[in-house]
Amino acid sequence: MTGESAPRGAGASEGGETTRFAPSPTGRLHLGHVHSALFAAAAARRAAGGRFLLRIEDIDAARCRPEYEAGILEDLGWLGLAWEQPVRRQSQHLAEHAAALERLEAAGLLYPCFCTRREIAEEIARSARAPHGPEGPLYPGTCRRLSADQRRARRAAGEAFALRLDVAAALAASGPLSWRDLGRGEIRAAPEELGDVVLARRDIGTSYHLAVTLDDAVQGVTLVTRGEDLFHATHVHRLLQALLGLPVPRWHHHGLLADESGKRLAKRHDSLAVAALREAGRAPAEVREMAGFPGPAP
Ligand code: GLU
Repeated sequence: MTGESAPRGAGASEGGETTRFAPSPTGRLHLGHVHSALFAAAAARRAAGGRFLLRIEDIDAARCRPEYEAGILEDLGWLGLAWEQPVRRQSQHLAEHAAALERLEAAGLLYPCFCTRREIAEEIARSARAPHGPEGPLYPGTCRRLSADQRRARRAAGEAFALRLDVAAALAASGPLSWRDLGRGEIRAAPEELGDVVLARRDIGTSYHLAVTLDDAVQGVTLVTRGEDLFHATHVHRLLQALLGLPVPRWHHHGLLADESGKRLAKRHDSLAVAALREAGRAPAEVREMAGFPGPAP
């Protein structure tokens, strides 16, 4: 399970990077997304042979809507961006996600978790020593301690479950890992910081961590660019690459745009949606500049 190919980093083959912008169609694009999209496109255009891809992260059918996807494509085109075809939609690749889960499960690295959010919160509140990570309390491991018989019985009874990565077992299988961030240098992978993450949600059978890792590999992405809010997730992705024998890209986590008061821009800033700025009469070049990229579209 650990057979991992040699790092295929940027600077590979023709010198150009393959990058991607990977929005979730759960709303319209705002300036923070524009920054991310321009950051990825600029990295691809830096050298001859670079490729800029687009991926729609639509595994969460309850939150994603086709009209948001159409709006995203329209906004990106209006901004002057051009991406390679075809656009990849994660929801069309669920069978590949399931196959990867089967491999991890066969290697004994996953376990079913029957806990509801509420049960997890209660367990954390009960335990004075509940482990915390950079993103908050970690899953306390309740279902990791179930016996094989208990698991079988609860599955057979039709109880809903998620699949979690047993991060200690996975790290024992992979050995120490590291990854390279173009901004921060060589990073020791510390996936244990996020605990036993969910790789298959009980409602959708896959997860952000699994889908993003598989898709970046399938799409041949050599440089993963994204906001630094996802920095810790990269530890988990690096581990999944090792376990599944996937190529290892490099990463560049960029800073997040803030408003004048220093508060991070979020999707609820409707006035900073590209569509709203466009309606207010802003030109594409102005919006690119507001997002930190003055000059022609990359
Ligand atoms: N789909 C994720 C988002 O919209 C980004 C995925 C990634 O770049 O890893 O936040």
